Amino acid sequence: MMRKKLPFASHINRAQFVLQALRAGARLARTVQQEHLGPAAAKSDRSPVTVADYAVQAVVGGMLEASFPGEQLIAEEDSQALHAGPPAMASMVAEYVLRYLPAAPLEEIWRWIDLGRGSAEQAYWVLDPVDGTKGFLRDDHYVVALAWIEAGQVVLGGLGCPRLAAPGASAESPGSVVLAVRGEGAWITGLEADAWQRLSVSQEVRPQKARLLRSFEAGHTDEGLMDELVRRLGCEAPPVRMDSQAKYARLALGEGELLFRLLSPTRTDYCEKAWDQAAGSIVVEEAGGRVSDLRGEPLDFGRGRELTANVGVLASNGRLHAAALRALDALGANRRP
Ligand code: AMP
Ligand code: MG
Repeated sequence: MMRKKLPFASHINRAQFVLQALRAGARLARTVQQEHLGPAAAKSDRSPVTVADYAVQAVVGGMLEASFPGEQLIAEEDSQALHAGPPAMASMVAEYVLRYLPAAPLEEIWRWIDLGRGSAEQAYWVLDPVDGTKGFLRDDHYVVALAWIEAGQVVLGGLGCPRLAAPGASAESPGSVVLAVRGEGAWITGLEADAWQRLSVSQEVRPQKARLLRSFEAGHTDEGLMDELVRRLGCEAPPVRMDSQAKYARLALGEGELLFRLLSPTRTDYCEKAWDQAAGSIVVEEAGGRVSDLRGEPLDFGRGRELTANVGVLASNGRLHAAALRALDALGANRRP
């Protein structure tokens, strides 16, 4: 059944805001991708960042301040890194932001980006303006991810997915928005128009039939261990490689059963970032799935920018969670070396 109206009874104002912000952010990122796939800059951790990352963060930060003044935001980017990058980048960022929020003074644009330096108070927002930047650069999957946290738990989260179609969508309008409110389900609608459909995970219980989802980037996972997991679980199909939290949306759509975020052998100290997991995790849980770390511990979003209490992530359709945890334990994949 499709619904025209937002399908939630609580947190209506925040859900409405997240929908608007994700639509604005996803459209802006898509426009940048179509018009200007300029060179990416490298941040101090050598990960790539583009005009779209900064422009989307400025627009969503500005919208957030207008709708919920004074609330805390934790977001991936900051203006210092922008100004340390190629000089042309800052002016391109301003140009794209001005299309959405005309007449904004330049200093305001940089300040909106830096709203993302907020602190993890009792309640706060978490934003990844472009999750899967490497996918964005490859013209592949990426998402805009926004979530609202209360007392260390995600209460509301959404993914703006320009490259992921809602079921039954026409080929001309492939993008979607996925939105979840704690206790009220996960829902998908078109990026442009409202036609809400409820999401539920696959009912598969056989590990050999499990469809695995993994990072596209080899450097974000452990490829050898992934192969061993496939063998141990007896999965018949090879893992699907996909960038960004679009993987969580796929799981919630029932188009996959297991999602592993394993520690890369070159970065065994890596801590998952709050903005890479918050929105995706509530989407999977509210579709009936389960999300934990690789040891089965719940993800702790009370610690600010990084999930320092957790090791990696396992998301599943719920029914295959225990089998996946056993396989991880048997392979020693749930411990830092
Ligand atoms: P994915 O597209 O699933 O590979 O996830 C993309 C996210 O992985 C990016 O937003 C990065 O913040 C994050 N990332 C960067 N380096 C690593 C790493 N070594 N291990 C896991 N994730 C990483
Ligand atoms: Mg990210």
